[in-house]
Amino acid sequence: MKVIDHIRQAKDTLVSFEILPPLKGKTIQSIYDHLDPLMEFKPSWINVTYHRAETMFKKKLDGSFSKIEVRKRPGTVAICAALRNHYNVDTVPHLICGGFTKEETENALIDLNFLGIDNVLVLRGDAAKNEASFEPHPGGHRYAIDLMRQISNLNTGIYLEEDIQNGGKTNFCMGVAGYPEKHFEAPNPEIDMEYLKNKVEAGAEYIMTQMFFDNKKYFKFVDDCRAAGIEVPIIPGLKPLTTRKQLTVLPRVFHIDLPTELSLEVMKCKTDAEVEEVGTEWLLNQSRELKKNGVPVLHYYTIGKPKVVYNVVKQIQ
Ligand code: FAD
Repeated sequence: MKVIDHIRQAKDTLVSFEILPPLKGKTIQSIYDHLDPLMEFKPSWINVTYHRAETMFKKKLDGSFSKIEVRKRPGTVAICAALRNHYNVDTVPHLICGGFTKEETENALIDLNFLGIDNVLVLRGDAAKNEASFEPHPGGHRYAIDLMRQISNLNTGIYLEEDIQNGGKTNFCMGVAGYPEKHFEAPNPEIDMEYLKNKVEAGAEYIMTQMFFDNKKYFKFVDDCRAAGIEVPIIPGLKPLTTRKQLTVLPRVFHIDLPTELSLEVMKCKTDAEVEEVGTEWLLNQSRELKKNGVPVLHYYTIGKPKVVYNVVKQIQ
């Protein structure tokens, strides 16, 4: 079932989870071990992130280096299919522009369609680790909206190959990313909002937010979206804070602020176990307030911390 239909049919706030594919070399069992306890909450769907290849340098026997491209976390499409099969749950693969040609993307979409997966979260992706800023793949897309147009085409039976006449139509429900604290490359929040509105007008049926730790930022973002004429559901993305290091890592990597009250509490902690307690309490309070305010879904980035998410969701049921 499509994400948008889950939301339309819901009588109360839904719960959904997000996972990363395991590092190459690990088995699908690591995903099941991660998700097994969380399935008690009957998530409406599970998102699986998508990862581009990274350029690495491998030392050869003669001491010189060879440049290789490594996809450390392959398997998004297959994991989505495996989760549907294993848990009978809907899945939402992420698709990104960065690192992929339009043909590779089309083939991934065809695989998803054949597997009966009709949801995608459509994203641009970040710059490759060896790039200063995002560069589109030769033969790929520059912005998420360009990838959306390819998917919309496929939804009307238009494939990249012009020879294909009366092509089978896919039926993807597209979600896109939104940034309560602005996407870091956008010149200002108003221009970022214009681009977000363009994505909605191009067919995005819902927005999923970047993580935030201050609910006021989410509520303001929703108000700003509504004022800009964006009417689609806006799903809050929530992440547990569990280590002291995250006080600097999260702002650097995700371009978000951490509230003073939370930061001061974390600074008082002597161990990461104590930080995890503070982070769990914070996430619980965030979740309760969001639910009280009638958000459509509480979407948890479970990444590496299913126990914290379990303890929070258990208390808001
Ligand atoms: P876009 O919507 O394309 O926007 C990118 C930037 O360009 C923004 O600054 C925007 O304002 C600007 N812009 C948009 N359109 C135009 C235009 N026409 N002209 C000029 N500027 C424009 N990354 C992954 O690699 N894998 C994942 O699985 C993944 N999952 C994510 C899930 C969520 C919920 C979120 C919030 C992010 C995720 N990301 C993921 C990270 C994401 O790829 C990055 O944040 C990326 O930098 C931007 O992606 P986007 O889809 O928002 O890009």
